[in-house]
Amino acid sequence: MPKLSGAAIAFAALAAVGVAGGPNGGQQPPSSTPAAQPRVVAARPPAPALPGPAAGKVSMVFVGDVMLDDNPGHAVCHGEDPFAGLAGALGADVTVCNLECVVARHGTQVLKPYTFKARPSCIPLLKRYFSAVCVANNHSGDFGPDGLAEELGLLKQAALPYFGGGHDKAEAHRPLILERSGRRIALLGYNDFPPRQFEAGPHRAGCAWLREADVAADIRAARTAGHADLVIVMLHWGVELQSAPESWQRTLARRLIDAGADAIIGGHPHVVQTVEVYKGRPIIYSLGNFVFDYFPGDPLVWEGWIVRLTFPSSGPADLEVLVVEIDRTGFPHLKKSKP
Ligand SMILES: [Zn+2]
Repeated sequence: MPKLSGAAIAFAALAAVGVAGGPNGGQQPPSSTPAAQPRVVAARPPAPALPGPAAGKVSMVFVGDVMLDDNPGHAVCHGEDPFAGLAGALGADVTVCNLECVVARHGTQVLKPYTFKARPSCIPLLKRYFSAVCVANNHSGDFGPDGLAEELGLLKQAALPYFGGGHDKAEAHRPLILERSGRRIALLGYNDFPPRQFEAGPHRAGCAWLREADVAADIRAARTAGHADLVIVMLHWGVELQSAPESWQRTLARRLIDAGADAIIGGHPHVVQTVEVYKGRPIIYSLGNFVFDYFPGDPLVWEGWIVRLTFPSSGPADLEVLVVEIDRTGFPHLKKSKP
């Protein structure tokens, strides 16, 4: 058994978070008790790739679905800023959201339940708060490959980097590399939720699809060709409204860490799920919604997470989870800690 050290997790305003750790991962079901588990120590893997001596600490923040159509989109068009109250919580060397809508003027609406299209005027707002957006999800293709291609062009024009999708399959699988504090951070994103037609083709815009062999190959390429010091994998997967991941997800997440990922960040189920530490690497199964409005039959309160990973110059990451509550407009607010 590896020596226990590092891999500290801090939870702020902890509401319904399941945490597990240890050399073999492990997991416990989410608890409805607002119990405080300030720090959890988990096992460290034997020989991680460590950055060079010049490398410094890097902080990264991840949030879940940002959907800027419907109520949030209307509010943004009227000058409101869904992120304004969370600027401090979102501040980090790298801040990433899952962009759960197309951002375009054109494109052909696909026949499917729930299609989301935001106006291009929201891009400066996204750029103000996010270093990059993940486009690997089940809405990036809502307005066809043309809609996504337009979005990717607009993001490039605005110098807001994206990952998990591209004008073709090769671009969709290419890691986004960001350099911070002397470290190269690779971001990869994959979708698993239908429709499958949203997958990028050799000559068709779309998202990268979740297949273990492809993800493992992309992780390796990020390390070798991309010279990445840290590799973060975002997965759009899981069962909607289910409070825990499926067993295949737990198996796959661990295998991707075995393949070289430093963290797995999941989303899509609209609710938060559980957190696990495997070989000192965090696995967040579902971040939940972040900017998303209500539909009939929804629960009274949606909760989502802001996940902050801090990678020190050496050793495992610290993980902090902030809980947000989402109001009727679809805007997030930090959940107040219970006394
Ligand atoms: Zn989704």
